[in-house]
Amino acid sequence: MKVCFEGNETQRNDLRNATEKAFNADISVDDGGCVTGLTAQSGKGFGDLQKSFQGMVADKNTFYVEFGSGDRVSHFDPDTRTATINPLDIDRKRYISGGFLGCFFLGGSGTAKFSTPSILVHELIGHGSGMVGGGKPYQSGIWAENEYHNAVGEPQRCFENR
Ligand SMILES: [Zn+2]
Repeated sequence: MKVCFEGNETQRNDLRNATEKAFNADISVDDGGCVTGLTAQSGKGFGDLQKSFQGMVADKNTFYVEFGSGDRVSHFDPDTRTATINPLDIDRKRYISGGFLGCFFLGGSGTAKFSTPSILVHELIGHGSGMVGGGKPYQSGIWAENEYHNAVGEPQRCFENR
């Protein structure tokens, strides 16, 4: 019935900080690293993401967020309801970006860097929030990731896998 951060203390703190950025909110956690509440900060564009996150915190199942090791790509595992962020993706790998026309007619008009909050939103909310209430994970997490990119003024991502 919550969202929990996994790993050692430093990793859990990093994940909590990224979550606060991702949802433009103060996040409170219990001793086990699980979210107990979200207090939204003022600012536009985060409302839907905050609602989705609160839905996951209130769900009957627990969701997990962790840093992955090795070269596994960032992903969401529906069996364990775990969003994994590969540290090697953060600030290193780039996504293909563009506006509506740039994405669909040019195949992307630029590239931009992944960040911890954008990966977290993509994996946890973009894929995982489909499982709230017993549903299935979403096939693509782009919709949520782009809400975050829009809210913070970053370029939109064009494709799920590039
Ligand atoms: Zn995805």
